[in-house]
Amino acid sequence: MSEPMTLACPHCHRRNRLPAERLDQAPRCGACKEALFSGAPVDLGGANFNAHANADLPLVVDFWASWCGPCQQFAPVFAQAAGNIEPRARLAKVDTEAAQELAARFAIRSIPTLLIMHRGKEVARLNGALPPSDFQRWLDGNLPSA
Ligand SMILES: [Zn+2]
Repeated sequence: MSEPMTLACPHCHRRNRLPAERLDQAPRCGACKEALFSGAPVDLGGANFNAHANADLPLVVDFWASWCGPCQQFAPVFAQAAGNIEPRARLAKVDTEAAQELAARFAIRSIPTLLIMHRGKEVARLNGALPPSDFQRWLDGNLPSA
């Protein structure tokens, strides 16, 4: 058995501890009993961002806004990547209009901006959207092993 790792539930945002080898066994949240991985990005705001960003499970964040054309075009690429990347990482979307304090905290000046967070630290940043194969390559090259 490996050391338990922490990850936040995409439904109730409570912290869960789980042996890494259980990640790909469709684990459920100890608090709300929902699936810890749904194959889709989770929408985060100021109230629940830190629970995911501080976890051992890497967090990939798409900072976007509804008026941003490139963000709209990138949304299906990001959504599809969630299905490919889970359970190696959690994918999340932050609406920069609704969560302006997060956009300010990370000095988001252009959107979309992609961040990888791991144990509370920013480990990678990408400005602008990428085609699916390039985005997958960026993830493979930058995701820390959980
Ligand atoms: Zn839960």
